[in-house]
Amino acid sequence: MNKPRGLYIHVPFCLTKCPYCDFYSVPFSHKTAREYANAVIRNLSRYDEPFRTVYFGGGTPILLAPYIGDILRSIRVESGAEVTAEANPCLCSPKTLEQLRSAGVNRLSIGVQSLNGGELSALGRRHSALQAEQAVLTAKSAGFDDISADIMLAIPKQTEASLSETTARLAELPLTHISAYLLKIEPRTPFGKTPPETPDEDETAALYLSAVKQLGALGFSQYEISNFAKAGFESRHNLIYWRREEYLGIGPAAHSFYNGKRFAVPRDIRRFIESPAQAEEITDDCPDETEERVMLGLRLSEGIPEELWKPLESRLRFVPREYYTIKNGRLALTAQGFLLSNEIIALLLS
Ligand code: SF4
Repeated sequence: MNKPRGLYIHVPFCLTKCPYCDFYSVPFSHKTAREYANAVIRNLSRYDEPFRTVYFGGGTPILLAPYIGDILRSIRVESGAEVTAEANPCLCSPKTLEQLRSAGVNRLSIGVQSLNGGELSALGRRHSALQAEQAVLTAKSAGFDDISADIMLAIPKQTEASLSETTARLAELPLTHISAYLLKIEPRTPFGKTPPETPDEDETAALYLSAVKQLGALGFSQYEISNFAKAGFESRHNLIYWRREEYLGIGPAAHSFYNGKRFAVPRDIRRFIESPAQAEEITDDCPDETEERVMLGLRLSEGIPEELWKPLESRLRFVPREYYTIKNGRLALTAQGFLLSNEIIALLLS
C-alpha cells in the first residue's frame, strides 16, 4: 500500500499582478472564488484517501480563506498532518488568520520578500516592511506556531548589507522557516519585457552564499537549495517533492505525481470551474526513477545515497571538490555546489 500522499491546491487569484511573476493567476472576485472552491471540492470528492500534507499555494490562497474550512472538511486529512497556506502580508488581518487557523491550517508561509522599503517597491509589492513584520506577529497571535517567510535574493539594488538587515530583523520574529529564492526574470512578465537592473552573476552568487551563512548563523539550517529551517520545522510538504514521493495537485496550473505518472492541469480557470473533473495532461507517463531521485535528491542538503551516486562516480571526478561532500555514504552538494546544481546534475547524468 502506498504511503499517504501530499495534496497541493492551487489558488489562482491575485489582487494585482507583481511584475516579475509568471505563476498562473486571474483577478479576484467573490463570485469566482466561490465557484472555484466548489469546483475544488467537486474534484476532491473523487478521492477518499487520507492526505498527510495539504498545501494551499498560489496565486493568493488567503483570498480563499472563507472557503478553506469547507475544502478541508471535504477530505480526509491524517491526524497531525501539516496544512500550509501561503499568505500575502497586506491581507493578514487578525480575523482572516484566525479563520484560517480554526479551519485547520497549522502552517503559514508569508510572502515577505524583503524588509527593505526600496527593494519592496522595486519588486512592485503592495506591502511595506512594517506590514510584513506585523503579519508574522499577527499570525503568532492567531495561534500559528509554524510560520515561514519567503524572501528574495538578487532584487534590484540589493546588497549584502541590506540582505543582512532583512535576515537579522526576520530572526527577531517568531519564524520557524525561511525560503530564499533568487529573483528570476521570466520572459512573459513585465520584468521580462523591460528588465530592471539586477545584481550581476557574481553579485548574485555572493548574495546567495551570504544568505546561507547569515541564516545558518541565525539558527535556520539549510536543508534544500532555497530552504532553511529551525530544527524539526522543515516543510514536510515540500520534502515530498524532493524525496520523490507522490502528491496530487488540484486546480489550473497544478502539477501531480500520482500513481507513477506526472501530469498537469491546464492554466484555464473557466475550464476548471465548468468541467465535472479537471483536465489532466500527462507530462511524463513513465518518469525515470533513478534520474529523478538524483535530480531531486541533490537539491537537498541530505543528498543522495551511495546506491545512486556510485554508478555516476566516473563523471563525479570532473566536479571540483569544493562543490560536494561525501558523508556517511551520502553525496551532497555544498552551498557553492547548489549555485551550479543544474550544471553539476546535467554533467552527472550526461
Ligand atoms: S508574486 Fe504572488 S501576489 Fe504577486 S502576482 Fe505572483 S502569485 Fe500573485
